[in-house]
Amino acid sequence: DLTKESFKQIKATDDDVQAFLTLNEEAALKRAAEIDKNGIAEDQLLAGIPLAVKDNIVTKGLRTTAASKILGNFTPVYDATVIEKMNQAGFINVGKTNMDEFAMGSSTENSGFKKTKNPWDLTRVPGGSSGGSAAAVAAGDVLAAFGTDTGGSIRQPASFNGIVGMKPTYGRVSRWGIIAFGSSFDQVGWLSNNVKDNAILMQAISGLDKHDMTSANQEVPNWAANLDKASVKGLKIAVPEEYTSDAIDDDVREVIQAALKHFESLGATVDTVSLPHTKYGVSAYYILASSEASSNLQRYDGIRYGFRADDVKNLDDVYVRTRTEGFGDEVKRRIMLGTFSLSAGFYDAYFNKAAKVRRLIADDFNKVFKDYDVILGATDASTAFKIGDKVTDPTKMYLNDALTIPVNMAGLPAMSLPAGFSKKDGMPVGLQIIGKPFDEQTVYDAGYVFE
Ligand code: GLN
Repeated sequence: DLTKESFKQIKATDDDVQAFLTLNEEAALKRAAEIDKNGIAEDQLLAGIPLAVKDNIVTKGLRTTAASKILGNFTPVYDATVIEKMNQAGFINVGKTNMDEFAMGSSTENSGFKKTKNPWDLTRVPGGSSGGSAAAVAAGDVLAAFGTDTGGSIRQPASFNGIVGMKPTYGRVSRWGIIAFGSSFDQVGWLSNNVKDNAILMQAISGLDKHDMTSANQEVPNWAANLDKASVKGLKIAVPEEYTSDAIDDDVREVIQAALKHFESLGATVDTVSLPHTKYGVSAYYILASSEASSNLQRYDGIRYGFRADDVKNLDDVYVRTRTEGFGDEVKRRIMLGTFSLSAGFYDAYFNKAAKVRRLIADDFNKVFKDYDVILGATDASTAFKIGDKVTDPTKMYLNDALTIPVNMAGLPAMSLPAGFSKKDGMPVGLQIIGKPFDEQTVYDAGYVFE
């Protein structure tokens, strides 16, 4: 019944919202019927729960495109580790959600296939790159959806859609079977309606995986069972001035200030601190992430996967025509930027310098975490913007992620949760809670006080 309800809601909303690229209706209903018939094993905590999957996570036998034409007809022969784990837990995959092509973007307008709308206001973007997942949750299609976050792609759409989005510590979740963008930044996580659901689902996908050598050998706590509102009493909160400055819209700042007051009223202390290298984050990130992307995307050559251009003359022509026709503008822009930054004559001036900035940004966080338990601020400087507002100006779009990118540079866990609504446009505003490495518990606990 749950699965049927989910498809009913998708049919009622998705003509407008356009959150999904591929629906998995037949297989999902079949699996739900099997679970009804055979019953649930004791460890199948999520048996029969319909959820959605971002389309850069490979699913065996189900088309996986990363919203790129170059993978338009790609059907994987294996499941990502996170899907395998969720299958064991008994979940039902209702379908694959729209995103910015290869997760490059902040509005889902860079999808090679369609534009997803924000369910709160169809003239606005749902954010990105996990915009389809966020919109599917906000539209009530599913209770939660998978996202990935390289520079903010779980937290910013969560903020724009008034839902919870958690990017765990780098290494917490296996990246095996995630279509790679910036491998030293990418992490999988969940977009959900509330903190508790998020914690339950995160536990189900976390842990060491022999297929991903960057996955961490760290114990996975039962975050949901440990959730504790009382632990906010005495919590030491740091608020970076860079996260509440004039660069943040007034209507957003007002909601964040009210949230900080709420924490104080519960017995937390709130101090202003500085993360001085924040202002270099966006520039350094676009060099590093694009460099990694230019390397990761070499594999789309027209031979190994998906799409191949027609009427080609020779092998070079296969590569050039396939990539020219298969990739969108933003992806090409990143490949060129990344290739340039890594090239022999410019490596020291760009890639190497950006890597040093990354270290400084991580050190900023380390210093603050010597004295504080969590760092709080806005997730995004604005509420969801209008479709078309930024897509023609890449720098404007890039600057949108100034408050989420530093967290990926340092590999920290961070969550966005709905903290209120803008007085200006009535749209939801997200509060960002950043934690110490592998201390997802404190992040979840702090967010839990809003429920
Ligand atoms: N918006 C950022 C970018 O375009 C981050 C995207 C992401 O986290 N996948 O790279």
